[in-house]
Amino acid sequence: MKKHNDFQTRLIHAQRKAPQFIETVQPPLFRASTIIFKSTSHLFDRHWTDDYDYSYGTHGTPTTFTLGDNIAQIEGGLHCLLAPSGLSAINVVNSAFLSTNDEVWVPDNIYGPNLEHLNHLQNQYGVIVKVYNPIDASSFQPTERSKLLWLEAAGSVTLEFPDLKNLVNKAKKHGVLTALDNTWGAGLAFNAFNFSDEHLSVDLTVHALTKYPSGGG
Ligand SMILES: *Cc1c(COP(=O)(O)O)cnc(C)c1O
Repeated sequence: MKKHNDFQTRLIHAQRKAPQFIETVQPPLFRASTIIFKSTSHLFDRHWTDDYDYSYGTHGTPTTFTLGDNIAQIEGGLHCLLAPSGLSAINVVNSAFLSTNDEVWVPDNIYGPNLEHLNHLQNQYGVIVKVYNPIDASSFQPTERSKLLWLEAAGSVTLEFPDLKNLVNKAKKHGVLTALDNTWGAGLAFNAFNFSDEHLSVDLTVHALTKYPSGGG
């Protein structure tokens, strides 16, 4: 028993400690849950609006902040929030911006699991799902209840390219937030934050890293 305790102590207070700083070309992988603070004042003085404030592993590490910053660069966005999967990122948008009796408009060729998630929000929480034809902007008929317009460019499976200009202009006129699933363009082939002569932009993009960026598909 005593021997076992010594062993545990030696693991925590090892005689040799590897230096914690290393400069490499590739950003190192940091995995963490609890973070060690220099002092209790460091702990209490931090603020969530500081993008680089390490507070807990899943809130961000040097690895995830670097990845998020680079994705924002590729997409031409201001800020990137990472989620565990593409569908989880879609879920973040739907859950953050939709409440009971809010209308969400989706293209008829929408990525299937997004529609499944929205149907669930409709059945469980009274969100209203409306379907439009992405190449016919007149089929998108926003009302005062409309909160969110989902776009895909190109659209899932059919690869139809939507009438983005008219759809986004109409959404802006009616105060409807625009979210574009940019997975097919990988953030490289299509610039959703500046896509026309008039420098039109959507409000949000979502991008599945499980596809092009990871070599997954
Ligand atoms: C695959 C895909 C997603 C979801 O990505 P996951 O990381 O697999 O959850 C979202 N949108 C489109 C268009 C996709 O093809």
